[in-house]
Amino acid sequence: MTIEMIFQNFLQWALPMNSNRRMIGRMLKQVSQMPATVTSRINYVNVANFLRYRNRAFICPICSCRSTPLYDFPDIKLRREHKIGVLRETLQCRECFGSLRQRSLAIALLDYLHDKTGIRHDSIATLADVGLGDLRLLDTDNFSAISSFLKNVPGYTRCSYLPDRIWGSEIEPGYYNINLERIDFVDRSFDIVLTSDVMEHVRNSDVAHTEINRILKSGGAYIFNVPYDEHSERDILLVDTSTNEDRYLCSPQYHGDPLTGGIIAYRVFGRDLIARLSSVGFEVSFHRIEKPGNLVTDGDVFVAIKRAA
Ligand SMILES: [Zn+2]
Repeated sequence: MTIEMIFQNFLQWALPMNSNRRMIGRMLKQVSQMPATVTSRINYVNVANFLRYRNRAFICPICSCRSTPLYDFPDIKLRREHKIGVLRETLQCRECFGSLRQRSLAIALLDYLHDKTGIRHDSIATLADVGLGDLRLLDTDNFSAISSFLKNVPGYTRCSYLPDRIWGSEIEPGYYNINLERIDFVDRSFDIVLTSDVMEHVRNSDVAHTEINRILKSGGAYIFNVPYDEHSERDILLVDTSTNEDRYLCSPQYHGDPLTGGIIAYRVFGRDLIARLSSVGFEVSFHRIEKPGNLVTDGDVFVAIKRAA
């Protein structure tokens, strides 16, 4: 046995995979690399949340597993700057790693399918077993827990934003390179479009919303979450995009992105998002999701239904 294997075995014993111990170990490593974040990660709020939730059993609406959550001691200061709830990006399922945000999106999707088809699925995993029937769904998150269950289901299409490659190209079966500001699908291609914390990264989100409306069938649903400040009438602009050149209005805010490591956030959406979506042809409702049994609290999901032409 090599030294490296001994070290790996020791690491697995001391900090088992999918354990809060490993989460805390990773957090401490990150804090040691960015000492300025120490007080915004190791503080009373995070310790209290950790103790409150670490043994909280729940049924995951993505993978169906009964689990207790992982808590990664989020950067509270950063969450507040981004107008994001402290718990929203954490409390991951140990089995599928879906966060609270992804679980709230899953619940909104399952509720919408129940209303549309009369069939209730308890999780994305059971939906994947049964399939989508005639429905066509476009998911803009190729790396999510939801995607990992649906990726091989007929009718399910995934996409990413890869500016170095040809727009519209099929990277692998059912997986396309798509710029949401000029989508390479014909009108009325889909019944459902999902985006999850994508639109704040799209330079002109109004154009993208017009495009999403175009590719949906009448009565189709655009189900999404975004950083959203209900207390702000208008979007909180982080970057001025009124000219061809980006002008930062505050220090640039990059959110984690599995493809690039960090992607610029242009805005936090305000309440007039709803009027703008309406003006491009959607009936919009905003849902605060509370499902303690699924460990979703203060979940935030918009459901925008394409009006008939
Ligand atoms: Zn899960």
